[in-house]
Amino acid sequence: MDNKPKSVLIAGGSLAGLMTGIVLKHLGHHVRIFERYPATQMEGQGAGITAQVDVQQLLTDYGLLKPPYSVNSPNLQILKLDGSVKSTWNVAWEMTSWDALYFRLRAVFDGHRSEYCPQALELGAQQTGSGENPRKRDTRPSICRAIRASHLDGKVLLVGDALASFRPHAALSTNQAALNALLRGKVMKGEMALMDWQRTVLKYAHVSAARSRAIGTYFQGGWGVFLVALVRYGVALVGEG
Ligand SMILES: Cc1cc2nc3c(=O)[nH]c(=O)nc-3n(C[C@H](O)[C@H](O)[C@H](O)COP(=O)(O)OP(=O)(O)OC[C@H]3O[C@@H](n4cnc5c(N)ncnc54)[C@H](O)[C@@H]3O)c2cc1C
Repeated sequence: MDNKPKSVLIAGGSLAGLMTGIVLKHLGHHVRIFERYPATQMEGQGAGITAQVDVQQLLTDYGLLKPPYSVNSPNLQILKLDGSVKSTWNVAWEMTSWDALYFRLRAVFDGHRSEYCPQALELGAQQTGSGENPRKRDTRPSICRAIRASHLDGKVLLVGDALASFRPHAALSTNQAALNALLRGKVMKGEMALMDWQRTVLKYAHVSAARSRAIGTYFQGGWGVFLVALVRYGVALVGEG
């Protein structure tokens, strides 16, 4: 791949768009993000977000860990309907919020100032679009997965929720956005072939969907559906994706 700066248009200025935009901009490409809603209507997207390993990697790689953005939860408790503890898993998760991540990414992508990030962080300014409608996010867990991530000879790529959306139980969607962006940076640097990028991101989507389903059935279903989902997760892990 040649090293000439490319013009990159990103449709959607949420977490996946911003993460990819930051990675590509850092490599010297000309990135414009088109978002239908202005920042004022992107606030309050709801709940907490778990910053999994690739989110942490992206924030580390681009020097975005400070000021602190998360709190550490040393374990995960699964509750029954009556509020009693069904089980406790010793998995440490970094907990943050959609707003905290979004405004941090905006601060670095285009210097947008907010309550979360009053100062612009590094990297220069770029344009984002604007829109009219108040945005109330649809939080229903829709599940879908694209068959291909790369289209038109690699000129159009699907990332984040556009590539695959999962049930929320494993909290992997934002991590997918970060992984897609980090690996995209490798492709642009010539360290990874586009076909390998596609294979890796599709496999991640396949495994994450199966993992989310398995965990969801453990939370909500009976043992039968959980075991079926667990087997499917195992098949996804060893399969081609
Ligand atoms: C309440 C809540 C809790 C969540 N918790 C977690 C969690 O714990 N862990 C986790 O990993 N993930 C979580 N998620 C999911 C996470 O927020 C998304 O996976 C993440 O934002 C990546 O999504 P995305 O950027 O690919 O897509 P989206 O966030 O859906 O962004 C797509 C963007 O594209 C814009 N757009 C769409 N069409 C157009 C158009 N035609 N022109 C211009 N712009 C357009 C939309 O306005 C939107 O801003 C949560 C989501 C919600 C709502």
